Amino acid sequence: MTSPADVLQAAREIRPYLSELLTHPDAEIMAQRLDLSLNTAADLEAQSNSILNVLSSAEPTREWARLYLEDRQPAAAILPIIRTYQPLPGKAGVVASPRYRCPVASCHQVWYRRQASDKIPDCPIHGVQMVRESKTAPHDRPATPAADL
Ligand SMILES: [Zn+2]
Repeated sequence: MTSPADVLQAAREIRPYLSELLTHPDAEIMAQRLDLSLNTAADLEAQSNSILNVLSSAEPTREWARLYLEDRQPAAAILPIIRTYQPLPGKAGVVASPRYRCPVASCHQVWYRRQASDKIPDCPIHGVQMVRESKTAPHDRPATPAADL
């Protein structure tokens, strides 16, 4: 059972991880929205609801909150879980979750593929399928960048 106090704690504990979970400037925007929720909501219940809305507005932070509040994972353990990609059964080892982003250059929606069976989602804003982003393998990027919509 998630209590408002737990949600407030989540809002504080997620702060150091926002820059890992979200791209710039989304991490700063979310930090500001969390501050606003903590400082301006009328009571604990309103603060809690406002924080859950903010955290649910992006997939990586929604998943972080779920792992923290429902699975009761300690904050320090959550980023590795989100980043960890479980290969198909039979393959040994784990590798970092590939990160996908919206191909629209101005869009900062990101998504981590944690299981090979996960379907690559469409950007919730632009409705186009997200593309794999990799610092080490730029050839994974599409040869022709998608035009801004
Ligand atoms: Zn997009």
